[in-house]
Amino acid sequence: MSVPLTVLSDDENLFRDSCRGFAEERIKPLVHEMDEKAKLDADIIPELFRLGVMGIQIPEEFDGSAGSFFMSVLAVEEISRIDASFGVFIDVQNTLMNNAIMRWAGDDQKKKYLPQLATELVGAYALSEAGSGSDAFALACRATDKGDHFLLNGRKLWITNALEAGLFIVFANVNPELGYKGITAFLVEKDFPGFSVGKKEDKLGIRASSTCELILEDCRVPKDNVLGEIGKGYKIAIETLNEGRIGIGAQMVGIAQGSWDCGAAYAKERKAFGKALADFQAIQFQLAEAATQIEAARLMVYNAARLKDAGQDFLKEAAMAKYFSSQVAEHVTSLIVEIYGGYGYTRDYPAEKYFRDSKIGKIYEGTSNMQLQTIAKHLLR
Ligand SMILES: Cc1cc2nc3c(=O)[nH]c(=O)nc-3n(C[C@H](O)[C@H](O)[C@H](O)COP(=O)(O)OP(=O)(O)OC[C@H]3O[C@@H](n4cnc5c(N)ncnc54)[C@H](O)[C@@H]3O)c2cc1C
Repeated sequence: MSVPLTVLSDDENLFRDSCRGFAEERIKPLVHEMDEKAKLDADIIPELFRLGVMGIQIPEEFDGSAGSFFMSVLAVEEISRIDASFGVFIDVQNTLMNNAIMRWAGDDQKKKYLPQLATELVGAYALSEAGSGSDAFALACRATDKGDHFLLNGRKLWITNALEAGLFIVFANVNPELGYKGITAFLVEKDFPGFSVGKKEDKLGIRASSTCELILEDCRVPKDNVLGEIGKGYKIAIETLNEGRIGIGAQMVGIAQGSWDCGAAYAKERKAFGKALADFQAIQFQLAEAATQIEAARLMVYNAARLKDAGQDFLKEAAMAKYFSSQVAEHVTSLIVEIYGGYGYTRDYPAEKYFRDSKIGKIYEGTSNMQLQTIAKHLLR
C-alpha cells in the first residue's frame, strides 16, 4: 500500500517529537542571545549528542542511532524551525561528515571515528576556498606525498562548524596537472600539526553558526587518513553534496515554518481597525498562500529524502527541493516581517531573524544557479 509522503512511521513520529520538544524547551530560550553574540551555546552541544541527533544514521555497532536519511531531514527541519544555526550544525554533522565517512571510509577509519562522531566529536566539511566556490574543482589547496604522510598547504574559506569541530574533511589536490582527478579527501583532526582555524566571518544570518577560514601550513596528515581513494576526492565532494542539499532544503522548510508560526500567532493577537489582523481576508490569504508554498517545499524535500533512502535516483529532485525551498523561505520570511509591521523590522521580535537566516539557502551547498544547472542538465540531456 502506498503511504502519503507526510505520514510518518511510529519511529519517525517519536523522533520528530523529541527533536521538536528539545528545540522548543532547550534551544528557543537561547536563540536571541546566540544571534546577538554570534555564538552557539556550548552547553547544548553535548545534549544534542545525548539526544541522538548527531549520529542519526550511524549504525548501532558504532554507537549511533541507526536511523534513516529521512530522519536526518526531520531533525534539521525541526531544529531549524527554532534556530537555523543549530539546524545547520546538525545538518553538516549528519548529511556531510557522517554520511561521507559511512560511505567512503575504510573499516579502521570507521571504527576510529564513527563512535566518536556519534557521541562527542563535531565534524566539518572543507571544500570551498577564496577563489573556488561554485567552481569547486578549481581548488588551490595542495597535498604533497611524503611517503607515510601527506603535507597539506593552502587555505579553506567559509567552513561551517569550524570552531566547534574536532574533525574536518579537507579536499586538496595531490597533482594539479591531473586537474580535478588529483583532488583527494583527507580526514584532518584539529590537533594535527600545521592545522589552524582562522578568521570567523561576521554574517547577515545564521550568525551563531561558526563560519571560518582554515589554515593549512605543512599540515601533516597520515596516509591512513586519506578518505576513499587518492584522486577520487571529486567524487566524494559531489556525491556528498548531492545528498547534503536535501538537508539544506529541510533547513529552509524549518525556517519558513517557524516564521509562519510566529506570524500567524501575531496576526491573531494584533488589533487594527477594531479587529485582529487575522480577521482581514487580505492577511488570511497571504498566510494561506505562504502555508501552501511551505507544504509544497516540504513535499519536495521529503520526496527527495525518501527517494534517497529507497536507493532511487534523487539528484534532480534534491536540486529542485533545495532551489524551491530556499525561494519559499525567503518569500515567506519576508512576508512575515511585513505582517509584524514596524515590530517586524526590530530585533525585539523573531521575524527579522528568520528573514536574515533564510538568505543562506540560495548560496551554500550550491547556489541557486548551480541547482538550475543540475536540473537543466538532467532534463535536457
Ligand atoms: C555561511 C556559509 C557557510 C558555508 N559553509 C561551507 C562549508 O561548510 N564548507 C564549504 O566547503 N563551503 C561552505 N560555504 C561556501 C559556499 O558553498 C560557497 O559560498 C558557494 O558554493 C558559492 O561559492 P562562492 O561564494 O565562491 O560564489 P561564486 O561561485 O563566486 O558565485 C557568485 C555568483 O555567481 C554565480 N555563478 C558562478 N558560476 C556560475 C555559472 N557557471 N553560471 C551561472 N552563475 C554562476 C553564482 O550562482 C553566484 O550567484 C559556506 C558559505 C557560507 C556563506
